[in-house]
Amino acid sequence: MAADPASTLQGRSSAYPRLFEPISLGGLKLPNRIVMGSMHTGFESLADGMEQLAAFYAERARGGVALIVTGGFSPNAAGELRGHRAQMSEPQDALRHRIVTDAVHDAGGRIILQLLHSGRYGQHPDIVAPSPIRSPIGSTVPRELDDAEIERTIEDFVQATRLAQQAGYDGVEIMGCEGYLINQFLARRTNMRTDRWGGSLDNRMRFPLALVNRARRAAGRDFIISYRHSALDLVEDGLSGDEVVTVARAVEQAGASLLNTGFGWHEARIPTIAQPVPPAGFAWAVKRITDAVDIPVVASNRINNPETAEAILERGEADMVALARALLADPAFAAKARAGDRVAISICISCNQACLDHYLRDETASCLVNPQAGRETTLVYRPTSVPKRIAVVGGGPAGMSCAAVAAERGHQVVLFESSPTLGGQFNFARHVPGKGDFAEVISFHAERLSRAGAEVRLSTPAQAADLAGFDEIVFATGVEPRIPAIAGIETGPVVSYADLLSGRAQAGRKVVIIGAGGIGVDVALYLVGRGARSTTDPAAFRRHWGISTAIDAPGGLAEEGGEIESGAHDVTILKRSTTPFGQTLGRSTGWAHRAELARHDVKVIGGADYRRIGPDGVTIAVEGSERFIAADTIIICAGQDSCVQPTLEGKIPHLIGGARLAGELDAERAILEGAELAARL
Ligand code: NAP
Ligand code: SF4
Repeated sequence: MAADPASTLQGRSSAYPRLFEPISLGGLKLPNRIVMGSMHTGFESLADGMEQLAAFYAERARGGVALIVTGGFSPNAAGELRGHRAQMSEPQDALRHRIVTDAVHDAGGRIILQLLHSGRYGQHPDIVAPSPIRSPIGSTVPRELDDAEIERTIEDFVQATRLAQQAGYDGVEIMGCEGYLINQFLARRTNMRTDRWGGSLDNRMRFPLALVNRARRAAGRDFIISYRHSALDLVEDGLSGDEVVTVARAVEQAGASLLNTGFGWHEARIPTIAQPVPPAGFAWAVKRITDAVDIPVVASNRINNPETAEAILERGEADMVALARALLADPAFAAKARAGDRVAISICISCNQACLDHYLRDETASCLVNPQAGRETTLVYRPTSVPKRIAVVGGGPAGMSCAAVAAERGHQVVLFESSPTLGGQFNFARHVPGKGDFAEVISFHAERLSRAGAEVRLSTPAQAADLAGFDEIVFATGVEPRIPAIAGIETGPVVSYADLLSGRAQAGRKVVIIGAGGIGVDVALYLVGRGARSTTDPAAFRRHWGISTAIDAPGGLAEEGGEIESGAHDVTILKRSTTPFGQTLGRSTGWAHRAELARHDVKVIGGADYRRIGPDGVTIAVEGSERFIAADTIIICAGQDSCVQPTLEGKIPHLIGGARLAGELDAERAILEGAELAARL
C-alpha cells in the first residue's frame, strides 16, 4: 500500500509526522506506524516465562508502540525451534497466554502472536521439511512431509490461530521468512517435490496460501493476519524479486491484513541485522512489495532511530516500520519520538551481544545498553527514601550507568572522569566501521546524567581527598591496555589499540596485530574498512556483499559476487592460542566479521610464541620454528588490566566493571553491574 502523500499530518508529532500518522488495521485503528518486531526472548518456553513476557511486552505497550509481535510459537511439536516446548497447540496454551494479552491490553497496546514452524531449522531430532535436504547450518536431515502431513500441518496453523484468538491476541503473524518451513516450500533450493506442493511457483506457494486462507476463514474478518514475507532470500536458488512480488499479491488475495518483511535465510552468508548493515539497508526491497499490494507493508531490519524510520515512510518504501532490538534498548522509544525528545532515546548499537547471542546460548534475552530489558520485574529503579552523597569515579560504561541510575533514584551524585570526555572504551569502539552508534550511548548517558542532576567533573582524576565526605564511593575506573612483556616492545614501531582508534597514532602499510580477541578483530576491521561506505550506504553495502537489485536475480544475489575495495593495509593477526580464530566473538556476528577479514585477505597466525620485536617487524616461533613477520606498525590488542585506583582510608569502595575484574570485561557486564549497584544503593 503506497503511502498517501496528500494526507494531512497536522496534530501529530512535528518531528516525525509520518511515524505518528494513525493507520487502520483489521478492525483496529492504530495510533502510529511502529510495530515491535518478533524476537525470541528465551522466556517463551520457561515455566514462569509468561509472567516475565507479560511484564516485558506491557512495558513496551506503555512506551507507545502501536502493535507488538511476540516471539515465535510453533503450531505443533515438529515445528519447534528447539527441544523446549514453545507451542500454541492446545487449549491450556491459550490459557497460559492470557496474562500476556491482558497485560498488553491494560497498558493500552495491541499484540499478535507469531506462528513459526522451523522445518529443517529445528534443533531437535524430529524435524520435517518439504524435501529431505539438510540445511548447511544443521546436522540433521529432515524427514520429508507426505501430503496428509502437509494438510495436518496447515490445520495445526489454523488451530493455533483459533487458540491465539481465544487467548486474547489481536491477531497472528505467520512467519514466512528467514528460511523456516514456509521458505523451504517456496524456494527451489529446498523444495524438490513433484506433487502439488512442488515444481511451479503456483505449487510451491500453495502451502503458505492455504495457511493464510484457512486461518482467515477460521478467525473472521477483523482478526489481524500478518504474513512475514521474505523480501530477499539472499541464498542461491531463492526467490527472485518478481516471485517475491507474486507471492505477496497472492498472500494478500488469500486474506492477509498486513505484510511484514524479512531478509536473508539463516544460512545466508550476508549479514542482515549486524553492525555491517547500514541503517534501512533493505528498505529498497520492501518498496517492491509496497508498490504491488493494497494492504499495509512493514519495513524491518536495522531501523534503530526515529529519523531512519521516518525517512522510510517518507520515501514511500513501507507503510509501517518494525523495530525489534530498538525496543529492547528503549521500551519508550515511541513515546519519546512522539514528544520529539530524540536525545532521550537509548539507541540499539546492533551488537546482538545481550539479545540474540543470549538466546543462542540458551539464556534469556536482555540488552547491553538497557539492562532492565528482560529484567522488568527484578531490576527495578525505585526512588530512594534516603538520599545519599555518592561519588562515582570513572565515566566509562559502568560509571555512566551507575551514576545515571543513582541520580535518577534521587541520590546526590558526583561523577569524576579523568579524561575530557565521558564514554571510556566506547570512545575507541565508535571509530570501528558499523559501530558509530556507540557515540549515541555516550550522548544518551550524558543527557541522562544532566537531567537527573548529577554533577559530572571531566578532566578530574579523583584523589582520596576529593572523596572525603561521600556516603558511598564507587570505583568504575575501568581498564588500561595491557602491554605484554615482549623483548623490544618499548623501542619497536608499536602502538596501542587505544592510540590507533582514537587517531593519536597512524598505521603503516604492513601491520601486525598482537592479540585476536574482540578488540584485535575490531582493529583489523577498522584498518580494512576505514573510509569504505558499505556500513552506511545501502548501495555500497549491496556492491560489497553481492546483492542484486535485478528483479529476476534468484535469491537477490549478484552473479558476480561482492566487490572488495583494495585496502590501504596488509594485515596479519597473531595469537598465542591454537583455538579457532574468532571463537570469543558473538555467535550471531562473529561469522560476518571473520568473513569480512578473510575477504580482505587478513592473515591469522595461531600458536605464536613472541620472541622479539625489532624495528621492521616481529619474530615469533610457531611449533618451535622461528618466523619473522615484517611490519611497519605493530598494534597491541593483548587485553587489559584494571586501572589503579586511589587508596582510601576508612572507606570500602564499591568496585564495578573493569575496575572489579578486567578479564573478560565487556560493556554488557559493565553497564549491568553499574545499574545493579545503583539500584541497591
Ligand atoms: P580479549 O578478548 O581478552 O583478547 C585479548 C587477547 O590478547 C587474548 O585473547 C589473548 O590471546 C591475547 N593476550 C592476552 N594476554 C596477552 C599477553 N600477555 N601477551 C600476548 N597476548 C596476550 O580482550 P580484548 O580483545 O581487549 O577485548 C576486551 C573485551 O571486549 C572482551 O570481552 C571482548 O569480548 C569485548 N569486545 C568484543 C568485541 C566483539 O565481540 N566484536 C569487540 C571488542 C571488544 P592469545 O592468548 O591467543 O594470544
Ligand atoms: Fe541492540 Fe545490543 Fe541491546 Fe541487542 S544487546 S538490543 S543489539 S544494543
